[in-house]
Amino acid sequence: MSTETFEFQVEARQLLQMVIHSIYSNKDVFLRELVSNASDALDKLRLEALRDDALGADVSDLHIEIETDREARTLTVRDNGIGMSYDEVIQLIGTIANSGTAKFVQELQGAKDAAATEGLIGQFGVGFYSSFMVADEVVLLTRRAGESQGTRWTSTGEGTYTLEAVAEAPQGTSVTLRLRPADTEDQLHDYTSAWKIREIVKRYSDFITWPIRMAAEAAPGTADGDDAAVREPETLNSMKALWARSRDEVSDDEYHELYKHISHDWTDPLETVRLQAEGTFEYQALLFLPSHAPHDLYTQGYKRGIQLYVKRVFVMDDCEALMPPYLRFVKGVVDAQDLSLNVSREILQQDRQIELMRRRLAKKVLSTVKDLMTGSPERYATLWREFGRVLKEGLLSDYENRDAILAASSFASTHDEEELTTLKQYVERMKEGQEHIYYLTGESRQTIENSPHMEAFQAKGIEVLLLTDPVDELWVDSVPEFGGKQLRSVAKGEINLGAEEEEQAETEREQRQQEFAELLTWMAGRLSEEVKEVRLSSRLTVSPACIVSDTHDATPALENLYRAMGQ
Ligand code: ADP
Ligand code: MG
Repeated sequence: MSTETFEFQVEARQLLQMVIHSIYSNKDVFLRELVSNASDALDKLRLEALRDDALGADVSDLHIEIETDREARTLTVRDNGIGMSYDEVIQLIGTIANSGTAKFVQELQGAKDAAATEGLIGQFGVGFYSSFMVADEVVLLTRRAGESQGTRWTSTGEGTYTLEAVAEAPQGTSVTLRLRPADTEDQLHDYTSAWKIREIVKRYSDFITWPIRMAAEAAPGTADGDDAAVREPETLNSMKALWARSRDEVSDDEYHELYKHISHDWTDPLETVRLQAEGTFEYQALLFLPSHAPHDLYTQGYKRGIQLYVKRVFVMDDCEALMPPYLRFVKGVVDAQDLSLNVSREILQQDRQIELMRRRLAKKVLSTVKDLMTGSPERYATLWREFGRVLKEGLLSDYENRDAILAASSFASTHDEEELTTLKQYVERMKEGQEHIYYLTGESRQTIENSPHMEAFQAKGIEVLLLTDPVDELWVDSVPEFGGKQLRSVAKGEINLGAEEEEQAETEREQRQQEFAELLTWMAGRLSEEVKEVRLSSRLTVSPACIVSDTHDATPALENLYRAMGQ
C-alpha cells in the first residue's frame, strides 16, 4: 500500500524542534506520557464498548504492555485500547489542536535560556511529542476498534511524517521508539533496561488502573522458544486508586503524578484536596489546585478538569456538572458509588445528588483557598495571580458562596503599591467615621490613580481599592456589602467623606452653584448630547472637571465591556 508524506502543522513542527533540542532534564517522563495516553485509550474503549454493543471489540484483557529490545535499541508501548483511524492520526498526532499552542510556541521561541524553555515545556506538557526527547524515530501503529484497516505513522520529528494504511494491525495502538544512542549508554539512562522501566513506571504510573505489563526478558544466551520466552509477563504497577487509599498511605509525589495524568500538565499542583462523603450517597473526591493557568482558561472550548469515576471505573472527562464554572481550573477525580456506568451528562445536570455534590465540592475548594490565604501566603498569592479573575466570576453566579469568595479574595489598593489587601484588612484600616468600602474600577492601576475621582480620597488619606480586571466591573454591582460595610464606587453619585465638614462644603457648593448658574446652563447646553447635567463639585482638588456616573449607571469601562461582548 502507498505511503503518503505529510508536513507537520507549523506550530507542531516548531514545538518538535524545541523538544528535540531542549535538554529537558527529566527525560524519563516520556514514558509516563505514553502510558498516560495508553491508559486514556483503554478508558475510552471500555466506555465505548459499554455504550455500543455492535462495536465488537474484545475488552476481556485490557492492558498496557512495554517491550524493549536492547539489540535493536527500541522500546515499545502497546495498548489494546480504542486506537485511531487514519484521519484521527492526522488530526490528533499531526496537529496540535490546543488553542493556546501558537502563543505558547511564541513564548518558547522567546525564552532566554534552557531553564526558561524547560519551565515552559513543563507548563504546557508536550504529550506524545516528548518521545522525541529520547528517540530519533517514532513509529506508531494503530487500528481503531470497529475498523478493519490499520495505520502506520512514522517520523523522525524533523518536519514531516509518513502515513501508510496497513491491512493487518492488532486493535489498539503501539508506539515504538528508536532510542538515541546517548540513551542506551549506561544503566542509569538505558531505556531498554528492565530495571529502568520498572523504576519509571513505579514512580510515575503506579496508580494507573490498567495493568502495565513488561514482557519478560529473554535471559542472555537463550534462543527464542526457550523457557525464557514463555515466562509470564510481569505487572509493574499496583493499580490502586489513590483516592480510595488512606491519606497517610499515599505520598505527595504520588498525588502529583495522578494530577499530571489527569491534567496533562507537567508541573506539580499547588494543593491537593481530599474529600470523603459517606452515608446515603457515597463518593470520594481528590481535587487539585494547579500552580498555573492553562492558556485556554478563558476560551469557549475550555474543558473542565473533573473526571467522573463510578466504583473505580472511568466514566467521563470534563464533567461540568461537578464544578461550577468559576472553579473550572480545579482538576481532579470524583468517584461515586451509586451511579450507573451509563450515566449521561444530561442526567448528571438534573440529578439532585450531583447538585449537592457540586455544592459541597465548591465549598471545600473555597475553604481550601481560604486556608492557603492564612496558612501559606506565598502559595495563595500564586493561586490568586493565576486564578483570581476566574474565582471572582463566582461573585456573580454563586450567591450561596458569595461571602466565602469575598473572604478568599484580595485586591490592589492605594494602601500599598505592591501588596494586595483582603476586604477584612481594609475594614480594619478604615478611618474613624468612614462608613463604606471605596473602590474604583479602571483599566490599570495607573489610570485609576490618575483619575480625578481619586483626588478627594487621596487628600483625605482614605484607602481606595483599585479594581482592574474586566470582571470587577460586573461583580461590584451585584455585591452590596462585605461585613456590614457597603461597597461604594468613588466615581458614582454623591459621596460623603466626613460628616460636618462635608455638610458645610455642600452648602457652600450650593451657593456657588447659584453663582455660576449661567455658566453651568451654558455648558450643559453645549454638552447636552454628552452628559445629563453639569454641576459644581467638592470632590476635586486639582483637576478642573470630571465625569461622574449616577449611582446606578454603568461605568464608562463597563460600557466598553458590554460593547466588547457585542451588547
Ligand atoms: P494529550 O494526551 O494531552 O491529548 P498527547 O500529545 O499525549 O496529548 O496525545 C494527543 C492525542 O493523540 C490524544 O489526545 C489522543 O487522542 C491521541 N492518542 C495518543 N496516544 C494514543 C493511544 N495510545 N491510543 C489512542 N489515541 C492516542
Ligand atoms: Mg497525553
